[in-house]
Amino acid sequence: MKKFKAFVVEEIQENQFSGTVKEQHLSDLPPGDVLVQVKYSSLNYKDALSASGNRGVSKNYPHTPGIDAAGVVHESSDVRFKTGDEVIVTSYDLGMNTAGGFGQYIRVPANWVVPLPTGMALKESMILGTAGFTAAMAIFEILKEIPPDSGEILVTGASGGVGSMAVAILSKLGYQVVAVSGKESARNFLKTRGASRFLSREEALDKKERPLLKPQWTGVIDTVGGDMLANAIKAAMPGGVVAACGNAASPDLPINVFPFILRGVKLIGIDSQNCRMPHREYIWKKLAKEWKIENPESMSLEIGLSGLQAQIDRILSGKITGRILVKIS
Ligand code: NDP
Repeated sequence: MKKFKAFVVEEIQENQFSGTVKEQHLSDLPPGDVLVQVKYSSLNYKDALSASGNRGVSKNYPHTPGIDAAGVVHESSDVRFKTGDEVIVTSYDLGMNTAGGFGQYIRVPANWVVPLPTGMALKESMILGTAGFTAAMAIFEILKEIPPDSGEILVTGASGGVGSMAVAILSKLGYQVVAVSGKESARNFLKTRGASRFLSREEALDKKERPLLKPQWTGVIDTVGGDMLANAIKAAMPGGVVAACGNAASPDLPINVFPFILRGVKLIGIDSQNCRMPHREYIWKKLAKEWKIENPESMSLEIGLSGLQAQIDRILSGKITGRILVKIS
């Protein structure tokens, strides 16, 4: 029986979770149409929640997290995929309650599998991962309404995975990007990726008690939620587009209706997990061509399975700049 390695999270004491690299068997994987040999994965905030026992993400342990995987089809019972095909698997239930990309093999339904688009390498797809894909979904919504030369776009949580990818893709497309970051040390990194101006978190939260703020942003990509998202909406220009992607600070949204009824601001929710397959394939193809970021390696730190626990602790405390790429096999 074929054995492989995986980063398995176990409940070592009541409500205390720890991950170690362990040997698994293919028979430990759930049933599915496509068996993929995983070459690369990446670390997302959700993986850190899964790896620390957050039952809203993963209910049962022992469990192998990893919401992102890219690799080569090993076996397939579905006609759409054959042995040797390069594929990306992200979202749906991968890494949540289905053994995920932090293992050398995954077995998944064929409907979760995206062919690697022409022009993209497996490694590059996982430097982007769910973070890059989510940023691209938000940019798709902004592009529909806001041309690049129409003003500044605000990106919050800018040094994180989704934020840094949003900065890189927006600036590649010619947008003026203002980055909000709590990390003074990340400014150089964000400048290299194309941010034209910076705000500290305190500056972005200034005058949060006011019902409306001076209009500044033609678009917003928010990964933080709470007062940060509320202030961004209040400072959006007439007709501005605000994409709500995350809740790194808070799931709350303390807002009034004035930005919507006096300025026609559009608030759009971004849900990468349930993105439908035709749109999913469209976004990945865009990321492989017109939205391709330059020198993606410079935005990521590469680790192996044994380096995961340390980076999980760092992402939970908001210390990561850019992306963590995980080399699997
Ligand atoms: P990261 O941890 O990589 O980045 C989050 C960033 O948010 C941090 O680096 C930090 O950036 C900022 N931040 C953290 N805590 C606070 C705080 N208390 N106040 C203000 N800013 C803070 O996470 P990801 O980029 O992977 O994910 C970001 C969010 O998006 C998460 O909530 C995640 O769950 C969500 N998400 C949603 C998806 C969707 O489909 N909608 C898909 C993927 C992620 P800085 O130091 O620069 O301020």
